[in-house]
Amino acid sequence: MSRLAVVCGGSRGIGRAVSHLLAQRGCRLAVVSRNKDAARTAVASLHGEDHIALSCDVSKEEEVQKTFETIQKTSGNISYLVNTAGINRDALLLRTKQEEMVALLHTNLLGAMLTCRAALRSMLRTEGAAIVNIGSVVGLKGNAGQCAYSASKSGLEGFTRSLAKEVASRHIRVNLVAPGFIRTDMTAGMKDADGASSIPLGRFGEPEDVAQAVLFLLESPYITGQVLVVDGGLQLAM
Ligand code: NDP
Repeated sequence: MSRLAVVCGGSRGIGRAVSHLLAQRGCRLAVVSRNKDAARTAVASLHGEDHIALSCDVSKEEEVQKTFETIQKTSGNISYLVNTAGINRDALLLRTKQEEMVALLHTNLLGAMLTCRAALRSMLRTEGAAIVNIGSVVGLKGNAGQCAYSASKSGLEGFTRSLAKEVASRHIRVNLVAPGFIRTDMTAGMKDADGASSIPLGRFGEPEDVAQAVLFLLESPYITGQVLVVDGGLQLAM
């Protein structure tokens, strides 16, 4: 039986590229996003068969619990979990409302904690199980205008390292990929002039650049609790 990979936030952007790459590697995919039609469309474009699309808001405990029960019932035990579901709201702290802070923390940090917790029992039953969370270089370096977003991503780094320690004895690995500027809906408002000149490699990243790093960490049996930066050298200049 091929490996089952759950990609939360797999309908668009980085998650969609990860889903494509994993399907090409022969995995069965469970693609999760709030918009079920978008998840279905993403699944329809995947290589291979037996993929499923599910609608779930990762920040809602009950929805996450039910979704992972459905995944297990429909598709079996989970080998890989990739947490790419995320939102961004750029604003100076003085102009950030509490509900915006809560939304960022709930989706980007709590969401990953809830999906990991919901997946762990199932992952205990598969060999070579691995989780990759998607952080951000701004979670490592900080960025003016992104206090709440970077707090959520720094939190995700701490969570990743702690969970890696917690489940290492059960042979589940947990790592984090920290992208720089990647060309997706999230950065659609940014022009090359806004950022590309500050990137040593001279271009924004593509979702596929991040997907390769995710695949590497999922398939590397002796790496856990690590952060892999995929940013064209951006953090060297930060
Ligand atoms: P996109 O906006 O292109 O895609 C986000 C995905 O997450 C969509 O599938 C969206 O589907 C899903 N999603 C958002 N909120 C929720 C939720 N509450 N529950 C379930 N799914 C949700 O973003 P990117 O691909 O650019 O970003 C992916 C990850 O990478 C994010 O965590 C982001 O913070 C991180 N990142 C991105 C960078 C970039 O430059 N693009 C840089 C650094 C990090 P739907 O709306 O249907 O729910």
